[in-house]
Amino acid sequence: MRIDLVEIFRVELPLVRPWRTASGDEPAVGSLLVRMESGGQSAWGEAAPGLAPRYSSEWAAGAFALVRDWLAPRLVGQFIESGAALQERLAPFKGNPFAKAALDTAWWSLEATRRGVPLYQLLGGHRDTVSVGADFDVLDSVGDLLTAIGGAVAAGFPRIKLKFRPGWGLEMLRVVRQEFPRETIHVDLNAGYRLDQMELLARLDDFQLAMLEQPLAADDLVDHARLAQVLRTPICLDESIRSPAHAEQALDLGSCRYVNLKPGRVGGLTPALEIHHACRAAGVACWVGGMLESAVGARLCQALATLDNCTYPADIFPSTRFYAQDLADPPLELVAGPDGAPAARALDLPGIGTAPNPERLAAVCREQAVLRG
Ligand code: MG
Repeated sequence: MRIDLVEIFRVELPLVRPWRTASGDEPAVGSLLVRMESGGQSAWGEAAPGLAPRYSSEWAAGAFALVRDWLAPRLVGQFIESGAALQERLAPFKGNPFAKAALDTAWWSLEATRRGVPLYQLLGGHRDTVSVGADFDVLDSVGDLLTAIGGAVAAGFPRIKLKFRPGWGLEMLRVVRQEFPRETIHVDLNAGYRLDQMELLARLDDFQLAMLEQPLAADDLVDHARLAQVLRTPICLDESIRSPAHAEQALDLGSCRYVNLKPGRVGGLTPALEIHHACRAAGVACWVGGMLESAVGARLCQALATLDNCTYPADIFPSTRFYAQDLADPPLELVAGPDGAPAARALDLPGIGTAPNPERLAAVCREQAVLRG
């Protein structure tokens, strides 16, 4: 397809509750939305690196400038016939996976729209419905957490994800496991620990957790491989997998038994597919996570989660979890899956079937740029 136009929007999406991170609270999600046009048709992509460079070295205002000044000019007016061809045109610019993902996801969304098929089918998924898990951040008390987990278990969520941090660690887990001895539970350590804390990390083996998500530094693969040799509990990498090359190295080293796939973190759906296929060949399972995107980004994640090696329930949330009103229509709502458990189902429409509402987009837009071929 010829890329006739790329329109970029930097938005700040106000959250219902501030998002708690290890380095501070964020009141809103900083995200990039891209509308790509070809032959009179258009579709949307999204990547949400956040307001500040906390999750990774990227942030929304920086990614916006990069897409406007360097990346999008490499695409407009060009014939881009595949996701690989798009990535090749962006390859001279190092790193910055979220910025690249904003364009890559728009290309996939547009290609599916042009072909008149739902995106998940174009990606190679064979099911329209994916199972989703329940996640709980650090809450005000462990009592509050027990109540929240009880609600999720009663609602049929197939797995529970918890944070693990100083002050919200072994004691919290002990109480949770006592109350919920058989539920599938895993913890996300968000790169907060070091290999010399092995004694503490080894004690996590006592809790029959499904996995430890990103225990060590965000740029590490080698220490994770060392840790994996000591622990019985599987390790899942999230922050450390920023490209297919990182995934290949992690697989070679034996750094993980699961990979959390986020299209934004790895540069878009094209590299996410590559990582998915490499993991499948190595017998390492994937599952899809999100970055609190609008329903546009959540639908992109949902399409990716339909692939056959995405076997662990995804982090896909209904719009109401984070937003008083989603930026996009229709909002994402959970449905009852085949087994009655909460699930996310793809819309039976070309592409992702979702687009920002123009008035709401204007209200949250902080910067906008248009590039024509
Ligand atoms: Mg994580």
